[in-house]
Amino acid sequence: MPYLLAPEELGELVGDAPSYRVDQLRDWLYRTPVLHAQDMTNLPADLRDSIGDRLWPFDVEIEQSADAGTTRKWLFRAGDGAAIEAVLMGYPRRATLCISSQAGCALGCTFCATGQFGFERHLEPGEIVAQVAYAQAFLRQIGMPGVPDHLTNIVFMGMGEPLANFDRVREALRRMIEVMGISARSITVSTVGMVPGIRRLANEPWPVYLAVSLHAADDELRTSLVPINKRYPIADLEAAAWDYFEKKGRRISIEWTMMDGVNDTLDQADKLASIAQRLKAHVNLIALNPTPLSEARASNELHIEEFANALERRGVNVTIRDTRGRDIDAACGQLRVLSGNSRTPR
Ligand code: SAH
Ligand code: SF4
Repeated sequence: MPYLLAPEELGELVGDAPSYRVDQLRDWLYRTPVLHAQDMTNLPADLRDSIGDRLWPFDVEIEQSADAGTTRKWLFRAGDGAAIEAVLMGYPRRATLCISSQAGCALGCTFCATGQFGFERHLEPGEIVAQVAYAQAFLRQIGMPGVPDHLTNIVFMGMGEPLANFDRVREALRRMIEVMGISARSITVSTVGMVPGIRRLANEPWPVYLAVSLHAADDELRTSLVPINKRYPIADLEAAAWDYFEKKGRRISIEWTMMDGVNDTLDQADKLASIAQRLKAHVNLIALNPTPLSEARASNELHIEEFANALERRGVNVTIRDTRGRDIDAACGQLRVLSGNSRTPR
């Protein structure tokens, strides 16, 4: 399982072969990833055979395609049964991969399918990076119609809270940026608001984008949706996000999942506008993807437009996110539900 070793430890796999073989192998894994070890054409057959079908640290359990082949969702299954989801969304000039940082999540946001099923375990750095390498190999070797043949954006918006798995996510970022050669500016770490993690990330050398999943603009409502808000209330989160912005010069984005009658009122828009203005942040609105264990429903389209207009009137930059692949996934964490192999909801 070469991705489970650090890129600097690959020598262990080549045995007595000359050292340039290690460089070749590292290139295949990180610079020009391929779907099968047999595609590593300049490696000797015995080395390719020794990797064999253990190239990836997971099996592809479900692969689904939607939006005329421009959305693809994978449910990978690690050897111990942990589910790892990734979604690739292709556009004419962009290919965005959404990756997971944990199997499950311990933070229990009420409207989130991943949160509803609880925490399984942290993903290893190699399991995080392998999602990126797999999508890269897919784009190069199979491709999507009318979509670039390489990733242009990577977002930590799949399963799990990346800043609750800080050290492993940090190592995954190091491999992506320093070994794969992916620009830090094409990576977004999305957090529910782990204040210590935001502060640690600010001290790392890479200018990755930070997305803050806010969803509510006052503590009472936010705590009811996002329980960790009790520990890290909005004022603390805002201060940490501001420091991140000042240190990195990267505009913060605020994620806001639109729930009918819950957080889509003009009062919330008004309070959100104040926060976004203070942070000079960009707001992304996304309609809720309904989940099995929550009554919450998506706000309707007109209402989302009105909410966006209210923010714009206050001078806030806002985007209504598209809802790619709804017919194949329903929500992050949903594939695991469909696979029937999921844990029992808590
Ligand atoms: N734990 C991190 C990253 C993973 S969740 C975080 O919370 O930011 C990625 C994004 O999906 C977050 O903005 C989250 O709020 C959003 N999300 C979760 N459940 C959703 C749902 N059912 N519908 C729409 N967005 C959802
Ligand atoms: Fe975890 Fe993010 Fe889901 Fe909250 S929204 S439960 S932090 S994955």
